[in-house]
Amino acid sequence: MLAFQLGETVMMKSKDNLNSAEVPHRYSRQVLFAGIGAEGQVSLSASSVALVGCGALGTFQASLLVRAGVGSVRVIDRDFVEESNLQRQILFDERDVQELLPKAVAAERKLKLVNSRVKVEGVVDDVNASTIDRLLAGVDLILDATDNFDVRFLLNDYSVKHGIPWVYGACVGAEGLTFFILPGETPCLRCVFENAPAAGLSPTCDTAGVIGPVVGCVASLQVAEALKILTGHRALVNRRITRIDLWGNRLACVDLPPRNQDCPCCGRREFIYLDGAMGSEATTLCGRNSIQINRRDGAKLDLAALASRLAPLAKLEGNRFLLKIALDEYQLTVFPDGRAVVSGTTDPGVAKSLYARYVGA
Ligand SMILES: [Zn+2]
Repeated sequence: MLAFQLGETVMMKSKDNLNSAEVPHRYSRQVLFAGIGAEGQVSLSASSVALVGCGALGTFQASLLVRAGVGSVRVIDRDFVEESNLQRQILFDERDVQELLPKAVAAERKLKLVNSRVKVEGVVDDVNASTIDRLLAGVDLILDATDNFDVRFLLNDYSVKHGIPWVYGACVGAEGLTFFILPGETPCLRCVFENAPAAGLSPTCDTAGVIGPVVGCVASLQVAEALKILTGHRALVNRRITRIDLWGNRLACVDLPPRNQDCPCCGRREFIYLDGAMGSEATTLCGRNSIQINRRDGAKLDLAALASRLAPLAKLEGNRFLLKIALDEYQLTVFPDGRAVVSGTTDPGVAKSLYARYVGA
């Protein structure tokens, strides 16, 4: 057992004896925990994790991972901070709302203040079939912090194809669900759910709301599994689904269905989400009366030029990360990669036509 004095750092050899790493006092309580120890801490510092989404789950996950000393944490999110996020998205504050900051930018700022030893990358982008290879390149583990099934099936395709584990997590109301996908070893998402649930059939944060504590629970369960795998304790990874209901006082681990040998993804290795055969240009955003428009041609937008063109037509607000275009009953938030969030409608046709009218095809 290692004993640390205040301010003392100890040089440790990594498992392969090729590199040495410092185990600073800040990790002393985690190193004292027998499951991790100094060796586990060295493994964590050599690990790279991507969080897909930086809303409720993502802010909790990111905070825990960065504090734990995971070497590199990439936080990918396409959205910006709004006042109604502050109830549960623990990395954000009122200034982020006033500054219209993208969540990935606001999160990176906070996380770097928490632990300057960790390489934190906030990436303002949309994870889709054409961006996923670039956005997830080089990571050891993916944590699900998204709010929609199209992205989860895409992550699942990517994970199985490249053999990178990922941790599913979802919550709504006071209920949550999480399980680990170890490609080739445990059932993949499509062994568990054949297809995405039809829109409107499941409760969402929009229809049922969500409380902060359930988000913290699910994110903590996800990060605990992440710590196991990143410190080499693969055998300890929970291979069951954990379900919680904080309002109904229920906590259960239930068996996953067996791996489906004929699963289109992990059985037949048909990656239809990665191939772009699934998913669409316009996506309904969970929790908001909004549609996201993706531009697949890779065109870049000059926000300043767009602002000067639209100035006579609409009320504009923005910064170098985004431009908000306020119209009578709609609002368009446009990003430099050509993406836009159209608020005030759930009709993809209306959203696409507003985009074409104000931003251009
Ligand atoms: Zn499968």
